[in-house]
Amino acid sequence: MNNGKLCISICAETVDELIRGIERAEELADVTEIRFDCLNKAEFYCEKLEEFNRIIDKLLKYKKEVPWISTFRPKSQGGRRELSDLERSIFWFSGYELDQGDFEEDVIEDSFYWLWFDSICSYHDFSGLHEKSDEIYTRLKGTGAPILKIAVETHDVADALPIWKLLKRARVDGKEMIPIAMGEAGKWTRILGLAHGAYLTYASLEAGGETAPGQLIASEMIDVYRVKQLDRETKVYGVIGDPVSSSLSPVIHNAAFVANGLNAVFIPLLVKDLDEFMRRMVRQETREVELNFAGFAVTMPHKQAVIKYLDGLDDVAATVGAVNTINTEDGKLVGYNTDAAGFIEPLKRTFGDLKGARVAVIGAGGAARACVYTLKSQEADVTIIARDESKARALAEEFTAGSSGLSKIKDPSSKASLNDFDIIVNATPIGMKGELETQSPLTAHELAGVKFVFDLVTSADDTPLIREAKKAGVSAIGGEEMLLEQAAKQFEIWTGGSAPIDVMRDALNKKQQETRG
Ligand code: NAP
Repeated sequence: MNNGKLCISICAETVDELIRGIERAEELADVTEIRFDCLNKAEFYCEKLEEFNRIIDKLLKYKKEVPWISTFRPKSQGGRRELSDLERSIFWFSGYELDQGDFEEDVIEDSFYWLWFDSICSYHDFSGLHEKSDEIYTRLKGTGAPILKIAVETHDVADALPIWKLLKRARVDGKEMIPIAMGEAGKWTRILGLAHGAYLTYASLEAGGETAPGQLIASEMIDVYRVKQLDRETKVYGVIGDPVSSSLSPVIHNAAFVANGLNAVFIPLLVKDLDEFMRRMVRQETREVELNFAGFAVTMPHKQAVIKYLDGLDDVAATVGAVNTINTEDGKLVGYNTDAAGFIEPLKRTFGDLKGARVAVIGAGGAARACVYTLKSQEADVTIIARDESKARALAEEFTAGSSGLSKIKDPSSKASLNDFDIIVNATPIGMKGELETQSPLTAHELAGVKFVFDLVTSADDTPLIREAKKAGVSAIGGEEMLLEQAAKQFEIWTGGSAPIDVMRDALNKKQQETRG
């Protein structure tokens, strides 16, 4: 448990909507941020004093349950609309009674005001950290404000380090600090902030209501990440990859940690530069921060590249040549591969004995390696099909399998044909969210004659490949069962306990239902 506060930021165009938002936010928040700059100009225009007073009076009649932070930020500093200097002065100096205000640096230079308000002095940069974080901090501190907030856009996980380190400096200076790394890459600062002494962390009321990039929904912050219960002893696990925004692993693993009463949390870590992440945030000898990382799930594109940063591998990971799980053991980083077992068990359950089965694995990346290894161990007859035929061939040579190019197998004039296979495995990201979402690696026509399709992609709805398989009358499963099996094995490696698989399945199903809406 920590002493931090969860602040729900409310942005609405009309005062009535704003009040409805406040009412709902009060059920979850310790404090609400009222984003006055979201109110539309027709509704709220400070230069017309009568109108301003009428709106403020209406708001003040609302009997609030939790304190407010008032924010009135111009567009140039991340607010929703253009605000003149006059409007800003009227707003801040009207005598309207504030619980707390969030003032941009330029609003007040006179530290006298901080004696009135337990207030925040904030700096925002939505295009990255262009000034030295220490210099920004020194300037904000110079205003005399008791609470300093620095919010900058980040693109990679380690971009947040300069502002994160200010937490320590603020502690020494007797200041409260709110370091926020915006964007997907900075989510970790929002989740772990309170555990490391941040004054508060922001959340949105609902999906689509985010007031800054990377902001998580309040219910997720509370139910999935338990941000107010985390402390410095909390063991931190995370999924490292690019992208990670659609990863279901946080939902599954956090549910398992709660079910087994563990002081542990699992977070998304958008890692583009793996070398920088391992050096600056993970490896004991070189890391710049102590986040208490205890292990990682590794996803694309890092499953093979991560091996060189590890101190050891288990036998399966060494043979497969890909790691999807890292555990810290006596300060050493040890790599495992749970994809192999996670893949083969649901396949055997649904298809049956694999001995002699003719299987085409599409893709030659980390997941494909695990599939090929474990299919071979079941004595299946495996062919690797990849868009880059040389990669298919190289992998086939390693595991003594067949190989082909994807375009060759799809070419009607070619002798190679997909009907030669009993099972098709999609081990590419085709069908995942984003630009690959609507594609299918194969059409219903191309799948005619195949007995079974296993699409490793996880999706709340049928993936394009599964839709094509259904059209062709071919049995098919998606990546969910593999996701659960491999996650259960990860949990056992990390904790030494048995995984609460039913809890993990329920959490996954609930999330999938929410996604379907
Ligand atoms: P990876 O190492 O990046 O490999 C991806 C493979 O797909 C590479 O061979 C790549 O070819 C190929 N590929 C990428 N885009 C393609 C396209 N548009 N058309 C044809 N081929 C394409 O990724 P991974 O870790 O193996 O993961 C692959 C998929 O499996 C992902 O969707 C992942 O989510 C899924 N997966 C699911 C589970 C589960 O538990 N359900 C577990 C592991 C993986 P190039 O080398 O030419 O780029």
